Amino acid sequence: MAFSEKIKYEIRKKALHRCCICHNIGVEIHHIIPQAENGPDTFKNGAPLCPSCHETYGANPTKRKFIREARDIWYEICENRYTHSEKRLDNIEDSLSELKALLIENFEFKAKIENKKFLTFGEILNFYFKQSVANEKDFKFCYGLIFFTFGEENNNEDNYFNQFRDSFIEIFGILLSEKIIAYSMKSSEIDWSKGFTESEIQSLFNICYTNMLLVFMQFDYESDEKKLGVQISDDNNDLIYSIIK
Ligand SMILES: [Zn+2]
Repeated sequence: MAFSEKIKYEIRKKALHRCCICHNIGVEIHHIIPQAENGPDTFKNGAPLCPSCHETYGANPTKRKFIREARDIWYEICENRYTHSEKRLDNIEDSLSELKALLIENFEFKAKIENKKFLTFGEILNFYFKQSVANEKDFKFCYGLIFFTFGEENNNEDNYFNQFRDSFIEIFGILLSEKIIAYSMKSSEIDWSKGFTESEIQSLFNICYTNMLLVFMQFDYESDEKKLGVQISDDNNDLIYSIIK
């Protein structure tokens, strides 16, 4: 037997057509307990996996628990992200305003641009999604540093960042967060093979912060608050920010 079209549709819908492990779009429905072991064609035994994760994890019996957990977490995120998105956005609105004020106060903008066309929300996302990292090892290290170890509890700015980062992942997903780190790494001048100083990390952190805020501020398009305007530099490799309102 195989999954019915109805069950496959229900699973795709529940996962918003995204892989429950890597969150890429476009999924196949995987039998967690395989058909050869009489795994049933039920919603409970199905997991949405992209072709690549299907190949990597699908046939490995030791990964069944992992797939099941990843699936349940992803279903939960999808549900919170979309059915309650208005409420979620309300909840983070206050800390977001404080963050914006902090950014506008502390961040050094590269240029003041006037009377030019700024990128739309979609164009900004597209720019980030095109980013890749040259060195996978450096990327993983940097990602961990920014996303998992940053922040002292006694420091207000770090607390803001930690909260903001968690909301960001919840709303925009891990893939976009990774792409933003990839871009930020390229725009920072750290040579990872030679180590780095605290001020270099602080500046990288500011770049990541700005890029995430940029996504948020454009996303929240109906707000009357100040926005960041952004354009692509002449060599197409960099973003130039400016406050437009
Ligand atoms: Zn995947």
